Amino acid sequence: MILPKSNRLTPEQIAEVTTIVSEFGCSIQPIVGAVRTIYAIVGDERDELMINRLEGLDYVERIDRIQSPFKLMDRRSDLASHRITIGGVTLGEELVVIAGQCTIDPKNPNYFLETAAAVKEAGAHVLRGGVWKPRTNPYTFQGDSKSIEILMEASRITGLPVDTEVMDEEQLKVALGAGVQMLQVGARNALNYSLLRSIGRAVAKRGTIVLLKRSLHMGSLSEFISAAEYVAAFGNPNIVLCPRGTAPALDGYRNQPDESITPLLKEKTWAPVVVDPSHSVGRASYVPACALAAVAYGADGLLIEAHVEPSHGIGDDPKQALTPAVLAETVAQAKQIWSLRHRAVA
Ligand code: PEP
Ligand code: MN
Repeated sequence: MILPKSNRLTPEQIAEVTTIVSEFGCSIQPIVGAVRTIYAIVGDERDELMINRLEGLDYVERIDRIQSPFKLMDRRSDLASHRITIGGVTLGEELVVIAGQCTIDPKNPNYFLETAAAVKEAGAHVLRGGVWKPRTNPYTFQGDSKSIEILMEASRITGLPVDTEVMDEEQLKVALGAGVQMLQVGARNALNYSLLRSIGRAVAKRGTIVLLKRSLHMGSLSEFISAAEYVAAFGNPNIVLCPRGTAPALDGYRNQPDESITPLLKEKTWAPVVVDPSHSVGRASYVPACALAAVAYGADGLLIEAHVEPSHGIGDDPKQALTPAVLAETVAQAKQIWSLRHRAVA
C-alpha cells in the first residue's frame, strides 16, 4: 500500500510508480477516500528492491505491507499445522521443560551426569548442556569439544534428548555427528545469517530441532521471525523461538526480560515459544518468577539452567543455575499455570 505525502498522486507520479511496480509484475489500484487517496500494490509486494525504490520517491510518505515478509513462519502459512515433538512432548500439547547446566565442565564430568539425572527427576524432558560457549570475555573458558561425549553419555544414561549451542560449521558438524537432537542458536548469533543458512542447510533432511534465541539487540518481532525464516527456507520447519531478554538490562537483572512478547509472537507466527528465564534475569533467585510469568504469557516451554551444585559450576552456573529442588518446584508450579491457562482458553 503506497501512502503519498500529499492527498493524492499527480498523473506523472502515478505513471512513475506504475512503471516501478510493473517491473516486479505488480500494478496499482487507487483507493479513493473523501480526503485522501492511497494506492494498493496489486500482486506479490514482497520484493525488497521494489519497496526500497518506492520508499526512495520523495513524494511517498511510506509503504505499508499487507503480505508477510516471512512466507513459511507466518501464522497464515501452510506450516501452521506443523507440530514439533521432542522428549515425548508435542509442543503446544504439554509444557516442555529443557534444563541442565549452562556449561559442561570437561574436568568434572560427574557433575553433568548427576545434573542430568536430577533434571530428569525434576520433570525436564530435554537436557541442555553447553559444549562450546560464546563468552564475552575472551580469557574465560570457551568450552571444549570433548564435552560433546559427556553430553551424549548423559543422554544415553537418562534417555533424554539434548540441546546444545553451535556457533560455527565445525561445531555444527560435530553436534550433528554426535546425534544432538536440538541445536541452539545463541543470542549473539541470532542475526548471523550465514550461520542460520548453514544450519538450515545441514538440518534440511533431518528431524533436528533448532532453538533460536532472540538476539540481545533484535529490534522488531519481525526481525526475530525473519531469522527463523532463514532456517525454515531450507525445508526443516522444526524451529522454536526463544526469548531470553534483551539489552539494555533492567537495573538489577542481567537483561530486559521479554517473556511478555510471547502472545505477540503467537499472533504473527505458528512457531512454538520456549522462554529462557535464566539469561533474562540472570540470577537464580529471580528465575522461578520469570519462568512462571512466561507460562502465564502463553509460553509452550521453558529453557532453564540447573546444576546439582551451582557453586561448583562454571560459566553462568554459579549465578544462574537452579538447584534440582528449586527446579522441581518451579516445574510443578509452571505446569499448574499451564493447565489453568489451557483450561481458560479451551
Ligand atoms: C546459554 O544458553 O548458555 C547462552 C549462552 O545463552 P544466550 O545465547 O541466550 O546468551
Ligand atoms: Mn548460560
